[in-house]
Amino acid sequence: MSHAPPSYQAIRIRVAEASVDQTRKGLRTGPERGLRQAQRVIESEIQRLPRDERGPLACRAGCDFCCHLRVMVTPVEVFALLEYLRQTLDPAAWADFTEAVTSTDRTLRELPADKVLTTNLPCPVLAAGQCRGYPARPLNCRSYHSLSRQACEESFRQPDNLDLGHPQLTALAKVHEGGQSGFVAALREAGFDARQYELVSALAEALDDPEASTRFSNREQAFLRPPVVEPGQV
Ligand code: SF4
Repeated sequence: MSHAPPSYQAIRIRVAEASVDQTRKGLRTGPERGLRQAQRVIESEIQRLPRDERGPLACRAGCDFCCHLRVMVTPVEVFALLEYLRQTLDPAAWADFTEAVTSTDRTLRELPADKVLTTNLPCPVLAAGQCRGYPARPLNCRSYHSLSRQACEESFRQPDNLDLGHPQLTALAKVHEGGQSGFVAALREAGFDARQYELVSALAEALDDPEASTRFSNREQAFLRPPVVEPGQV
């Protein structure tokens, strides 16, 4: 008897269920552990896909077009990324990073609202075309992938043209969608702030206000400044 391959929707549901289950288990130890568990589910589910459903991708080290776009993140991803950078960057690189966060946040907040998503601004975590926080990068950075470097470059050259996209792999996208939705559901269920915040503004607030992580740990809203990007806009 032959078995039909699972539909894309079935992949999304399977991964979401595994992610919610594993995130719940991780959350018993803490939110960062829950995040790592969700990342593990996503990575192992990617390996379960047939080879042609997960690559070959055009993404390469040093190709950073997508790191000039706005990224939405949950607070625990911001704190995990900051912790990784604190542990790995030397003092000069840390100073460079924090200055880049402050200046990029200021630039973003000075932009007209309709230009925030159509202006290329390098992520402050980026240096010399590389992500300095790669092992701790947010889930949306992990999920972003492309089959065409040329399409990414065209979109980068014409940031105002929102009709330009880039080809992706549907099954791979569904694994990430499922993994993220399961993670967010478990986080919310446990009472943690699972809102989506724009990465740069969240990094800036986390660096300026140590109470942000206390609020998060107390299951309150972590970031209180006016959002530069509303959830659902990206
Ligand atoms: S966190 Fe890393 S991968 Fe994500 S946008 Fe910034 S530089 Fe790129």
